[in-house]
Amino acid sequence: MTLALGCIADDYTGASDLANMLTRCGLRTVQTIGVPDDALALPEVDAVVVSLKSRSIAAADAVARAREADRWLRGRGAAHVLFKICSTFDSTDAGNIGPVMDALRADSGDAIVLVTPAFPGTGRTVYQGHLFVGAVPLNESPLKDHPLNPMRDSSLVRVLGRQSASRIGLVDLATVAKGDDAIRARLTELAAQGVGAAIIDSVFDPELEVIGRVALGHRLSVGASGMGLGLARGLVASSRVAAATADAMPEPVGGPVACLAGSCSQATLAQIAQAETSMPVLRLDPEKIVAGGAEVARALGWARERLGTGPLLIASSSTPDQVAALQTRHGRDAAGHAIEQAMAAISEGLVAAGVHRLVIAGGETSGAVVDRLRIPAFLVGPEIAPGVPVLRAVGWRGGDAVLALKSGNFGGPDFFNDAIRLMP
Ligand code: ADP
Repeated sequence: MTLALGCIADDYTGASDLANMLTRCGLRTVQTIGVPDDALALPEVDAVVVSLKSRSIAAADAVARAREADRWLRGRGAAHVLFKICSTFDSTDAGNIGPVMDALRADSGDAIVLVTPAFPGTGRTVYQGHLFVGAVPLNESPLKDHPLNPMRDSSLVRVLGRQSASRIGLVDLATVAKGDDAIRARLTELAAQGVGAAIIDSVFDPELEVIGRVALGHRLSVGASGMGLGLARGLVASSRVAAATADAMPEPVGGPVACLAGSCSQATLAQIAQAETSMPVLRLDPEKIVAGGAEVARALGWARERLGTGPLLIASSSTPDQVAALQTRHGRDAAGHAIEQAMAAISEGLVAAGVHRLVIAGGETSGAVVDRLRIPAFLVGPEIAPGVPVLRAVGWRGGDAVLALKSGNFGGPDFFNDAIRLMP
């Protein structure tokens, strides 16, 4: 199998967002958790998104992991690799966008790489190399106070220049507006001047397609999901990929189905209340979980009695007042961690009881479950709700499984049943 596109994402949620975007554009896409083993058997796919957690680690480690991911992707035929960064360019002067870009460019042999976090449809635009978040420049947006990567300069030419050993140039909007040939000519000119990376402006979504087409003439690009959209559209338009229907129903997995909710968001609380009208719901006692009580065993006993009769839901979620009270008593991190680990243990017990269809509500909760079950990769399937696709486990020692992993605020009022309907 030859990949049309390889992607290396510097965090997990960004990777999921990109994998979902590529799928919606017609690319059959697998998202892996970390750099996979060489032995991972992939289904027929067009794109693989390798999820790293490298955004805020030491630059040398981020470079090493990205290069390992790049070798894996190139080894499976990826002619083009997108290094996927956050659309707000989250980074510091120490990295990690510049150092990773420099290393991947050196490995690719490209003279110059196109860089843009633009995604106009989601309010991220770049003009004269300055990134805007909605109506304000990056350095006036809430990102200026980000705890790990405070963004105090909107000029991406300057920001990247401080991180990279390369000279950084600009392909401005006037050039982008003239189309593919003008952009290519500008890149040739910049490369001849010794510029190794160019920030490219984009203010309207159709420009992403032009940028994607031009980028496909290179072996590497750096960008956010907007760049992913441009690359995917470019691959489909040039027939390098035969667009797949993203919404084909997955092959049935069958067997019992269970839902777990660890999110305490308003949307999830309402979805749990709605689920109570159609399936048995067990509300865990968060205090007992944190105190190390036998809640996991109680939940598994409760579930085993009901798994044969239809879907069920186990929830730790409680209201903001109750959450605040628990956190005051035990500390936010300790309480959160204890509950995540209890949910992970419950998922493990459910799998042992034959459950291979799981719906999980909560971003951190989902991460804890996927880590515990050691699922190496997912094939992205139909969308249950915007941003929440059905995921099919790939290369899992437990066999076939389908999952839905939802961040707290996503999904409609009947999310749990909506998900189950798409997970036969
Ligand atoms: P979301 O996607 O809504 O942010 P997460 O799963 O990412 O959901 O985060 C929810 C956090 O709250 C997790 O750390 C989870 O363990 C914790 N949690 C779950 N239930 C409770 C509760 N009843 N009280 C306090 N914390 C809770």
